Amino acid sequence: MPSVRCCGCGMAAEAASGVADEEDIESILPDAVAGTAVTPLRKIAFSSTEKVTETHMTIKTVGIIGAGTMGNGIAQACAVAGIDALMLDVNPVALDKGVATISGSLDRLLKKEKITAEQKAAAMSHIKTTSTMADLAKCDYVIEAATENEGLKIKILKDLDALLPASTIIATNTSSISITQLAAATKRPDRFIGMHFFNPVPMMALVELIRGLATSDATLATAQELAKALGKTPITVKNSPGFVVNRILCPMINEAIFCLQEGLATAEDIDNGMKLGTNQPIGPLALADMIGLDVMIAVMNVFYEGFNDPKYRPAPLLKEMVAAGYLGRKTGRGFYTYA
Ligand code: NAD
Repeated sequence: MPSVRCCGCGMAAEAASGVADEEDIESILPDAVAGTAVTPLRKIAFSSTEKVTETHMTIKTVGIIGAGTMGNGIAQACAVAGIDALMLDVNPVALDKGVATISGSLDRLLKKEKITAEQKAAAMSHIKTTSTMADLAKCDYVIEAATENEGLKIKILKDLDALLPASTIIATNTSSISITQLAAATKRPDRFIGMHFFNPVPMMALVELIRGLATSDATLATAQELAKALGKTPITVKNSPGFVVNRILCPMINEAIFCLQEGLATAEDIDNGMKLGTNQPIGPLALADMIGLDVMIAVMNVFYEGFNDPKYRPAPLLKEMVAAGYLGRKTGRGFYTYA
């Protein structure tokens, strides 16, 4: 399966622009979603009769692999919920940038009086970083959010599997790689789950929980409780290319591009039609520009190749625009132009 950095959410942006888009996204989200309403997590109970040790019933420390767009967002969500977040990255610059991004994001919430200075300080006290994987051994739960590359993720997961106690759950934030396949790289496929956060993590309310073939009920229950403790609403999905949200969202955007290509309506009218006729906060073509047209093509190809079904073929106009370097907001030109 090709390595893609999938859009990740209805309002998703390419990694590099995700943080910058946060303000835009927040402005189109309802207040209830845009805030950081989070519930402190203290008890995470396993719901099945599987044998687990008492120490794993309380998640105090979440290890996060990768301090990039998603990793630092997940760390922020943990920290605001009162959970220690230990971010690991191979790149020390990414770790510093990740911490600075969290601080900046909390500053914006502070400015909007959504949190107090004390709450910001408390959250920052829960953020720790490391470059040494052995430090993750003390974590109660680990979320892998490193670069979207299958070989890289398999290597990380094998290393983690060798390091962590057998009862520790490993989750992956992959957008496009099979959860069942990643689970099989470990000796704990029952304690492995997809935990697909949406970008920007502090703002987006959804977490897709993806069960691999062997994921146990207890693992799912724990992931659900953790997601809720982070102030998110989890949905449960079986492993399948692109899971559910992107499976529905991206073909819809692709169809909007077909409509434009066929000259059925202007970009503005297509977007207005979908906004006013289906109550979406942003039109599909404007959303494609936010996600990045290169990411859109990669996601459509995941479906096209994963299902071997021509209904997922990327629109020829999408291919043309990517070939021309019109990738959306990040290049200043997509279906719209940006200053
Ligand atoms: P990113 O490029 O912003 O960050 C990835 C980080 O992983 C980088 O800081 C990199 O240094 C680090 N990394 C690379 N190899 C590593 C290793 N061996 N050990 C530790 N860290 C390592 O990427 P991102 O956008 O945060 O995406 C991370 C994951 O989340 C991917 O699987 C992606 O598909 C998924 N995802 C992304 C989005 C999105 O909108 N960006 C949405 C949902 C899911």
